[in-house]
Amino acid sequence: MRILVIEDEVKIASAIKRGLALHGHAVDTVHDADTGYSYAVDPDYDLIILDRMLPGSIDGTELCQKIRDEGVHTPVLMLTARGTIGDKVEGLNSGADDYLVKPFSFDELTARVRALLRRPKATTGTILKTGTLELDPVGYTVTRNGTAIKLSHKEFQVLEYLMHHAGQIIPKETLIAHVWNEEADVLPNTVEVYIGYLRAKIDRPFADEKPLIHTARGFGYRLGEK
Ligand code: CA
Repeated sequence: MRILVIEDEVKIASAIKRGLALHGHAVDTVHDADTGYSYAVDPDYDLIILDRMLPGSIDGTELCQKIRDEGVHTPVLMLTARGTIGDKVEGLNSGADDYLVKPFSFDELTARVRALLRRPKATTGTILKTGTLELDPVGYTVTRNGTAIKLSHKEFQVLEYLMHHAGQIIPKETLIAHVWNEEADVLPNTVEVYIGYLRAKIDRPFADEKPLIHTARGFGYRLGEK
């Protein structure tokens, strides 16, 4: 998954980045609110870790409020040095999804990150549908025409991303950035292999149905009924 860390304490930001990269995430770090805002409006992030006290023209809560006003629904985990109830309420009212008080253990951070990444994106319906294919991002199930399909974790992540962006051509590099860690040596070839696995599971056994996975030669893949 792609995670944005907005934290002015460079040491903390780098530690978070290193730790999350070990868990297979692709992490960008920025150190002030204004740069943070310009990154945070990019809907391609799967999660934003946002420090509450930041240098710049706005603070973390204002930044969060601003991106929510812009219609950005990326989950936000807010970090703060202060842990009073009032601060928590203010953070959550600004549109943050969860709150972590410094100092925190890395285990606690990864547990919160995992919980937030598991949530369905946006708030519109939890089940993704393309034709007769249905994916439940919370229950981790996939069905086609009512028949359950077993997928590996990576296959599930690839399919979930394609379904979130059904109808769009998704370059292999985009899939690598979202599903694999950018720092790992994942070749476009690997994506082809996984697309092959998915075709064998969601298209080939359903010969009476329209194939859903399409190759846009030289560009990437597109999921859709035609
Ligand atoms: Ca700070």
